[in-house]
Amino acid sequence: MSYERRLLEVYKMPSQKDVSKALLQSLFNNNGVIKEFGSGEIIVDEIADLFKLSEEQRTAYLETVYKKENRAKKAYLWHRLLFRAADTLAKEKLITRPTQTIELTNKREWMLTEKGYNKVLEILHLPSSQKDFLPVKSYEVQRIVEKLYKQERPIKYDPFETKKTVKISAETKLRNRAFKQAVKEAYDYKCAVCGMKIYSPHTFHWEVEAAHIVPHRVNGRDDILNGLALCRLHHWAFDVGWFTLDDNFKILASEKIKDLPANFGRLESYDFIRHLSKEDIKISLPLKQDVYPHPAAIKWHRENMGVSKLEVIRSRSSERSILGRGVS
Ligand SMILES: [Zn+2]
Repeated sequence: MSYERRLLEVYKMPSQKDVSKALLQSLFNNNGVIKEFGSGEIIVDEIADLFKLSEEQRTAYLETVYKKENRAKKAYLWHRLLFRAADTLAKEKLITRPTQTIELTNKREWMLTEKGYNKVLEILHLPSSQKDFLPVKSYEVQRIVEKLYKQERPIKYDPFETKKTVKISAETKLRNRAFKQAVKEAYDYKCAVCGMKIYSPHTFHWEVEAAHIVPHRVNGRDDILNGLALCRLHHWAFDVGWFTLDDNFKILASEKIKDLPANFGRLESYDFIRHLSKEDIKISLPLKQDVYPHPAAIKWHRENMGVSKLEVIRSRSSERSILGRGVS
């Protein structure tokens, strides 16, 4: 039995298999990324807490002798165990190594892969559909997010997907998650209209949604330039045409708001819909100007979902229905 193995037994340390499992769950709880284990790193204690390790277990160390220099080197046993567990997970491609993650995040971190993410969901008995809502990062999605951020802002922009038939492949699913993540992140998880920011108490699932300006149903792109972070109420209001935007990101509200019954659209004293009709309100925008919504996408929304067009459609259909009733 090796010296390290013997020590693991002496100190009754948890098995490497259990540590691997705990590590995956910690990654999930930390939104898919944790720092490389260094001494004093919170994560090292966090996982030790999960196993209720005693002070003795946390501070037990191995002593190795550097023969060349005849110098003893100490390494914490717990630290070694954590590292070995992470190394095994990386070999199984359930997480990426800090040397790989650093290329993406500029930080030495362990990150969940899609395979690892699936594994955690399995452990927690959560359906994979949760991936659309949870804020957990995966290496594959994060790579697309980075691309979305780094793309050059074109002057001429086509907000439509160029492929005629958009197949729902595994890749488009990843791309869709990357879109949601990039948009929410760019707007700091706040509604661009009302500033609402809140998450769920257990899974830190953000309430804010990534809205498409040119909608998916007409092949609008999963692209940050075609996105806007909105709370559910304002997402709905934007999609159905209660408001649109001008090229300077000012809100253009529908005239129909004034015809709404007084008690509609109110939450006690907060009026989410009439608030839109105030003059000169601009939406909140991301810090980086490069990822502002593109005027080409906004123009489409204004012309197709926006105020004027909808008002025309509605008044025509109401004329028809009045005529229809007249005949019967
Ligand atoms: Zn809102």
